[in-house]
Amino acid sequence: MKIVVPVKRVIDYNVKVRVKADHSGVDVSNVKMSMNPFDEIAVEEAVRIKEAGNADEVIVVSCGVASCQETLRSALALGADRAIIVETDVELQPLAVAKLLAAICHKEKPQLVICGKQAIDDDANQTGQMLAALMGWGQATCASKITLNENVATVTREIDGGLETLEFPLPAVISADLRLNAPRYATLPNIMKAKKKPLETINPGALGVDVAPRLRTLKFSEPPKRGAGIKVADVAQLIDKLKHEAKVL
Ligand code: AMP
Repeated sequence: MKIVVPVKRVIDYNVKVRVKADHSGVDVSNVKMSMNPFDEIAVEEAVRIKEAGNADEVIVVSCGVASCQETLRSALALGADRAIIVETDVELQPLAVAKLLAAICHKEKPQLVICGKQAIDDDANQTGQMLAALMGWGQATCASKITLNENVATVTREIDGGLETLEFPLPAVISADLRLNAPRYATLPNIMKAKKKPLETINPGALGVDVAPRLRTLKFSEPPKRGAGIKVADVAQLIDKLKHEAKVL
């Protein structure tokens, strides 16, 4: 069984994001970039499935600019077997990524795609769902536990009211939530080995996908500055303020 894991290169979660002066976007010049944290969890899960003898190959795929190769090398150092970069300078929106991943799935015929539940830059939480729809496959989002048995997946999902368990046949798309696992650190020998693992470059045209943006962003702006807080004397005053000033009760 092959597992495909899409990994996105995003601004590192420790970086304070700044909006460009002309409000046209976010400043990414000289900013540390890393693998989307949920995708690290997805890679870890795929590698664990392989280590348990339930998969033969883990393929990591990143769509975007040439430097996504660094992100793919990090995923190879965590234990993925080979990598594919779909290289383009066009700013990719979730539907374009889902179409590119669908084209890769038609080519590679994986039994399972494990993606992140959302990318921490656009917070879209759309790509996995769109991919499952394009492929006509089952899907489970926000997975906190995955069990595979032959061609059936059992997935526990984190939902607002608690945990939900789904069972469905493969092939399918599963998106990883925070509590699925704790990703390992790449060891130096594995970082060295990753340099020799295969990394294929494809362009969107070769996959027959038009990646032109369908949505136009009008403006980026910083969230409003948070005002200073106040101390209340007791619970009664707190409730009074929540009712009559904040009007949230
Ligand atoms: P999003 O729908 O943008 O929140 O992204 C959800 C997941 O889709 C991410 O965690 C990745 O696994 C995958 N994904 C999104 N964009 C890309 C990309 N450009 N390249 C590879 N995978 C991506």
